[in-house]
Amino acid sequence: MNFSSRLLSWYYRHGRDLPWRASRNPYHVWVSEVILQQTRMEQGLIYFDRFVRAFPDVHALAAAPEDHVLRLWQGLGYYSRARNLHHAARQIVDDMNGRLPETGKEWSKLRGVGPYTAGAIASIAFNEAVPALDGNTVRVLARLFAIEESMDVVKGKTIFDELARSLLPEDRPGDFNQALMDFGSMVCRPANPLCAECIFRGSCKAFRAKAVNRFPVRKAKMPPKDRYFNYFFFYLVHPGGDVVFFVRQRTGNDIWRGMYELPLLETEWEMTENDVLAHEWWASFAGQGIDGVFTGRPFSMKQLLTHQRIHARFFGVRVDNKSNVLLSKHFMRVNKETFEGLAKPRLLERFFRQHMPRYSDQAESGTDADQKTRSSSSKSNRSAKKS
Ligand code: SF4
Repeated sequence: MNFSSRLLSWYYRHGRDLPWRASRNPYHVWVSEVILQQTRMEQGLIYFDRFVRAFPDVHALAAAPEDHVLRLWQGLGYYSRARNLHHAARQIVDDMNGRLPETGKEWSKLRGVGPYTAGAIASIAFNEAVPALDGNTVRVLARLFAIEESMDVVKGKTIFDELARSLLPEDRPGDFNQALMDFGSMVCRPANPLCAECIFRGSCKAFRAKAVNRFPVRKAKMPPKDRYFNYFFFYLVHPGGDVVFFVRQRTGNDIWRGMYELPLLETEWEMTENDVLAHEWWASFAGQGIDGVFTGRPFSMKQLLTHQRIHARFFGVRVDNKSNVLLSKHFMRVNKETFEGLAKPRLLERFFRQHMPRYSDQAESGTDADQKTRSSSSKSNRSAKKS
């Protein structure tokens, strides 16, 4: 029995039973493939179910506001995936009369659809004999054939692509690709592969050379870029106890585009309150008469993204009615319930989950969140004069 037949017979006995496999509905295969990039299967299944309930077909997805799509994606991270999926749905409806592409080549013309996703959809939903090379499938091939090139370089990509094509059975390419994906995630796992019970143990070159951990070969990675986000929780406590605060929507070609966050001052280093008070950004508010009281020490949080490390500091600033009105000219005023309904980065969600109770308690007791408060007005006025 050749490699493909052995792998397929393993797959028919042990492959995972996933909701999009039985129907081979191309829209479902597409959504699942996008969700499962960088996401654990258990978590991905929950999001997939929620997503296709809300948007049962490409027309429903295309018609949805971006904010609704991002809201359903919240917690998965890598929000550009959701934005691209949404954009591609609109491309299909507007430019292709709502007809889903049927070949890998056509799929790869859509926003956010790379060679892996295009290959997966074309082979699974339309039985096209094209490979689907992702982390799982590359790892299996790299170990079985002891491939010394990295998939991150052109030469490596060509080697893996040609090898996968030579192994693909013409009659069942979709099953083969899914078998390779399952085998990579269930047996030939990144850490602790189950070599002792592997059906390819006798022929696996990496195993025979006792060099399993050396494969797949990777190109040295660039260290992530450090970014310093100073967030300002400008808030007002109404006599009834409701806490209102200010948010803005992210724009531009940057992370978290379209999502909501607190007013932000990005700097090259971590800021203290004094640094903030001396900054021209703060002075511009002070110059307009916006004033507030820093409540307690800032909270620090970190979030690691693929190529960036976000160092966030959250400054609580209690404002009065006059500043509240002035701030609404720059930002959107919300309360906790409104903010919960908006799409936001996980970092902001964590801040509100962990620290919002401090401000709510303050509203109930009528005291500041931290007894060590100090007025920023004199310093902000001073910094405004300096600038
Ligand atoms: Fe992967 Fe080990 Fe099997 Fe080789 S023997 S294919 S390394 S699980």
